[in-house]
Amino acid sequence: MLQHFFSPASVAVIGASNQPGKIGHDIVNNMKLSGFEGAIYPINPKATEVLGFKAYPSVTTIEGPVDLAVIVIPARAVLGVMEECAEKGIDSVIIITAGFKEAGPEGIEMEKELGEIARRAGIRVVGPNCLGIISTQTGLNASFAPVFPQRGSLALMSQSGALATAILDWSVQNGIGYSKFVSFGNGLDVGVIDLLRAWEDDPETRVIVAYMEGLRNGPEFMRVAREVSLKKPVIIVKSGNTQSGARAVSSHTGSLAGSGEAYSAAFKQCGVIRAHSVEELFDLAVAFAYQDLPRSRRVAILTNAGGPGIMATDAVETAGLQLATISPETVERLRTTLPPASNFHNPVDCLGDADAARYNFATDVVLSDKNVDSALAVLTPQTSTQPLETAQGLAKFAAQHRKPVLACFMGGGAMAGAIKLLGGQRVPNYAYPERAVKALSTMVAYREWREEPPDEIEPFPADADVVRRIFDEAREQGRVNLGEVEAREILRAYRIRCPKNEVAITADDAARIGDEIGYPVVMKIVSPDILHKSDIGGVRVGIRNRQEAMDTFELMMLRIRRYAPNADLRGIAVQEMIQTGREVILGSTRDPQFGPLVMFGLGGIYVEVLKDVSFRVAPFGRRHAQQMIDEIRSAPLLRGARGERPCDLDAIATTLLILSQLVTDFPEIVEMDINPLKVGEPGAGAMAVDARITITG
Ligand code: ADP
Ligand code: MG
Repeated sequence: MLQHFFSPASVAVIGASNQPGKIGHDIVNNMKLSGFEGAIYPINPKATEVLGFKAYPSVTTIEGPVDLAVIVIPARAVLGVMEECAEKGIDSVIIITAGFKEAGPEGIEMEKELGEIARRAGIRVVGPNCLGIISTQTGLNASFAPVFPQRGSLALMSQSGALATAILDWSVQNGIGYSKFVSFGNGLDVGVIDLLRAWEDDPETRVIVAYMEGLRNGPEFMRVAREVSLKKPVIIVKSGNTQSGARAVSSHTGSLAGSGEAYSAAFKQCGVIRAHSVEELFDLAVAFAYQDLPRSRRVAILTNAGGPGIMATDAVETAGLQLATISPETVERLRTTLPPASNFHNPVDCLGDADAARYNFATDVVLSDKNVDSALAVLTPQTSTQPLETAQGLAKFAAQHRKPVLACFMGGGAMAGAIKLLGGQRVPNYAYPERAVKALSTMVAYREWREEPPDEIEPFPADADVVRRIFDEAREQGRVNLGEVEAREILRAYRIRCPKNEVAITADDAARIGDEIGYPVVMKIVSPDILHKSDIGGVRVGIRNRQEAMDTFELMMLRIRRYAPNADLRGIAVQEMIQTGREVILGSTRDPQFGPLVMFGLGGIYVEVLKDVSFRVAPFGRRHAQQMIDEIRSAPLLRGARGERPCDLDAIATTLLILSQLVTDFPEIVEMDINPLKVGEPGAGAMAVDARITITG
């Protein structure tokens, strides 16, 4: 796929120039210097020759076939040249030129036309407004990047050209190698999804890294990213928040879900590894590129310093990795050579005066322990430390034992040579233990994700017709907000349990219903115009007898009429009171990129103040429903920590799954909250005591 972009036999550079400093010059010059062996055709009607290559007035005058065209002429001339490329039968074009979509209405129009020409002629386009493409394997530098990285196993795609030049420059300095590099700019045609597909089975590429700002097709991205992630790690930095539109947000879920949450959820669901900064992107990329995946969570820490050893130990525990138990045989072997004051158990401390021989001996012995599946080697520069020799030994034994080893050689000038040596030997080094542990735990998590069975979607029985009828009715009446009464009917159609409930029109009604349901009961105002009932005194809980029910009816009616004189009051619901259980919130909102997003959190201040919530893109299966519950910080409360009663977590998971099905079945649901869902003890189930739905008009 996209073969001609990465290994063309011939490249035309349209806008080639002899004048240093012009992009059209730099590109031809880069192609010349990078060792590209195919034909290079500079296009420039005013020149006969550019940088030693014969120049042509246009692509149509080239005799032989052209696999790839690179366009660097001013924007207004690009459309005409695209037509010529089409005529010449060129199927791959890189448009470096800026001044399109990013430059205002005229540019938007030109970019649209560009797209039409490309589609009609079957031309694939990278750009416009981009830095270009590099393929180290074929020596192709179809970019104006001032550096050419060494060959390696990372494939990088970037939506930002400027950031990409910085990354390439830094990579060259740090000896980080690439298989392919694409800056796709405005992404008129080729974008994240195409490049994932192109690199999925590329034997040169071990790790795919991406800097991206936005996506066009969320669901398609998730499908492709999942398939690719099962083959090789995909690490993405996503920056910028896309506008979710000017839609007024009326639900909790809507106000808590920025597009950042949708991306995080989507990435988790398709195995994409999210980096939160470019620094983290490379911390992770290098670990995946250089080392094999750890077989388990069991890690050994080697150190010549107490403090950093403890930092590493803390980081290992926080990250959910396991400190490997060093076997008695290994301890015995260590004792033969290490001084008696050493620590022979994890973290294995060879002490500050360890020279390379002692440290390397410990490395070899610890890595041969069958309880150890990976190692973190911490070294600080002390008087007897031999950084270079220690680095050599570390690299040697890491390769010999075929277990992933990450280094943390801490320091500046004293360590520079050793760190360089480690990089050359494909041992990633980190400035601090926390960063090394983060890389290692990400590798473990990725491996575990790959080995998980797929998250099957369970179907639940439901009367979709009931829901359709309610939505139609509301729309006929010109309403998009559905209050508790209608929302209850919808939840029931999807078999979510709700408390007994009946609407009273008179005080006598209220008493009769109260008697039937049995006290205590809850009374709530019913009005399509009132969405937050308790805000205006429209909810009373704990009504103990028929007299109280009657009084409450009169009082509430009076009060609401005063507070909301224009509201259409339909009566007061008398509802079974659910006396025990914890209040949680479940909700859904629609993300412009990914579609329905389901939210979970604890009720009350946990959601309002602490914003302690988790998200998934619907539809999802039970494993993700469980993860949503586990992910919130207050999850231990639900499991029964600190004297709390444990909750029916299965019932929460099932309700999340039903909600996922409901919002998938009905794309017209823009937002909804079940707030609260009252959850009983394990086995007792859950009840939706309030709900609200907003649909499209
Ligand atoms: P709103 O969110 O519109 O103000 P709710 O129906 O959610 O109104 O009621 C407010 C609060 O009253 C709920 O969060 C819950 O704590 C309590 N409540 C409401 N209905 C019941 C019920 N049936 N059983 C127990 N508590 C209830
Ligand atoms: Mg509520």
